[in-house]
Amino acid sequence: MKEQFEIQVLICGAGAAGLAMAIELARRGIPFRLIEKADQPFNGSRGKGLQPRTQEIFEDMGILDRIVAMGGVYPTERRYRDDGSFTDTVSVEQNDPTPAEPHQSPLMVPQWLTEQVMRERLLELGHRAEFGCELAGFEQDAEGVSVQLGSKADEETLRVRWLVGADGGRSFIRHALGVGFPGKTLGIRAVVADVLVTGLSRDRWHRFGDGDMLRQIFLCPLAGTELFQIQAPIGLDADIDLDAQALTTLVAQRTGRGDIHIHSVSWASAYTMNARLADQYRVGRAFLIGDAAHVHPPTGGQGLNTSVQDAYNLGWKLAAVINGASTALLDSYEQERRPVAEAMLGLSTKLLDAHQRGDMRRGREVHQLDIGYPDSTLALEQPERTGGPSAGDRAPDAPMRGAAGKPQRLFDLFQGAHWTLLGYGAERSTVRPRPGLHIHVIGPGGDLQDDQGHFRDAYQPALGDWVLVRPDGYIGAFVSAGEGEALKSYLARVGLHPVELEDLT
Ligand SMILES: Cc1cc2nc3c(=O)[nH]c(=O)nc-3n(C[C@H](O)[C@H](O)[C@H](O)COP(=O)(O)OP(=O)(O)OC[C@H]3O[C@@H](n4cnc5c(N)ncnc54)[C@H](O)[C@@H]3O)c2cc1C
Repeated sequence: MKEQFEIQVLICGAGAAGLAMAIELARRGIPFRLIEKADQPFNGSRGKGLQPRTQEIFEDMGILDRIVAMGGVYPTERRYRDDGSFTDTVSVEQNDPTPAEPHQSPLMVPQWLTEQVMRERLLELGHRAEFGCELAGFEQDAEGVSVQLGSKADEETLRVRWLVGADGGRSFIRHALGVGFPGKTLGIRAVVADVLVTGLSRDRWHRFGDGDMLRQIFLCPLAGTELFQIQAPIGLDADIDLDAQALTTLVAQRTGRGDIHIHSVSWASAYTMNARLADQYRVGRAFLIGDAAHVHPPTGGQGLNTSVQDAYNLGWKLAAVINGASTALLDSYEQERRPVAEAMLGLSTKLLDAHQRGDMRRGREVHQLDIGYPDSTLALEQPERTGGPSAGDRAPDAPMRGAAGKPQRLFDLFQGAHWTLLGYGAERSTVRPRPGLHIHVIGPGGDLQDDQGHFRDAYQPALGDWVLVRPDGYIGAFVSAGEGEALKSYLARVGLHPVELEDLT
């Protein structure tokens, strides 16, 4: 008899990756537990840049407005010269929204506030992280994983079907699985600290000694708080105090100013920069997501974003498999996400080099809107496309109008745990309804009207085309009217089976 599991998934680590994973499973009603060895939530600002693609994901999770209300945009940078004069520069591009890309500018939100909003969302969905609970060991077999948990109160053994390692850069799970983590230590150590400061305005990101690693120090006002984040490279072996007095001295030494005072430190850390990528993202029933799978320098603000997106990619797949889809679906997780991390490591290291030269501009390449999975086994294109987005690309937004007259954005229609099938002037009756699939037809007689042509511009479809959008907002399949069979077998492959028509009556 097949083993039954009360808890399907154990998520280890309640940082940004573990929380995103938990939200994705909770939205789909999957029984899971989320454990965190720390006794309380992390209280530092470190991952403070939220990229446009992550904003789209947060919109789908139902938390974007709350996140925006908490944070703000990046301020203009003020670069000081040795004589105290300065130049103001915009180096984080702020662009206007377009119909296809409604979020165009990175947001600044201290990581602890982002995680606070994620925990609140999780609570709304009926779940919470178990703080003070540590994964102490695990063994897996063909049916499931036996995990040993330890807390101050007691020890516990639990059986789950799947284990998700969201346990950060020093991942216990990665080590226990024996997964290699090759890469390099970048020979740079830095201080990061959240502090109360007087002597600096809050409308600028104050940068002193740019381009000189021995003298650099940056003080950035943290949106949504009264704090500044200090960032400063330090010697590899330097013995450094991180209290208010020591940081005031460091600031005075590097800025030449005696009027900047640190009054209190709410969080501080001295860390060494690494660029490393796990050899494997999955071993049997255990997965690695977030920093457990990749670490890199903070330049370009990619880490938290990539971590959330790992979870967003794996979450729906794991839920689908638990609900009966083929386990082959899970192979696409590493296939899709590891190349993204590989490219991101290259980007953040390149930006670090530019930063060391004092010349770092961050444009579209950090926005993560161009991430896609065109080489994935989940990308189906029939016939091959010659223009516009391909299977595997991010599905653009498009403002349209519902047949009843109300404005309707595609992103509103995507929001939720389902797949979305869009037929452009297609014949609705050629695709049978399936649980978990929302079908819309665009054009005369359809439920959506592309009255301003935004869908046509963004997708460049031919009449009769079907565009199948995955639950994570990527195009799974793009097929023409005559390829109904290919679409049908794709839907079956991902666990979307038709019901008999009688079932609908
Ligand atoms: C200075 C700095 C600036 C940064 N700036 C940015 C930025 O602007 N944008 C950006 O996107 N990223 C940035 N990052 C990176 C970002 O902070 C990380 O990528 C992100 O925190 C990764 O999230 P995670 O959930 O994978 O890991 P973590 O946040 O490290 O969470 C892992 C959790 O697992 C828990 N854990 C570990 N072992 C166990 C166990 N055995 N049992 C139970 N729990 C366990 C840990 O306590 C921890 O809470 C920055 C990082 C630094 C250091």
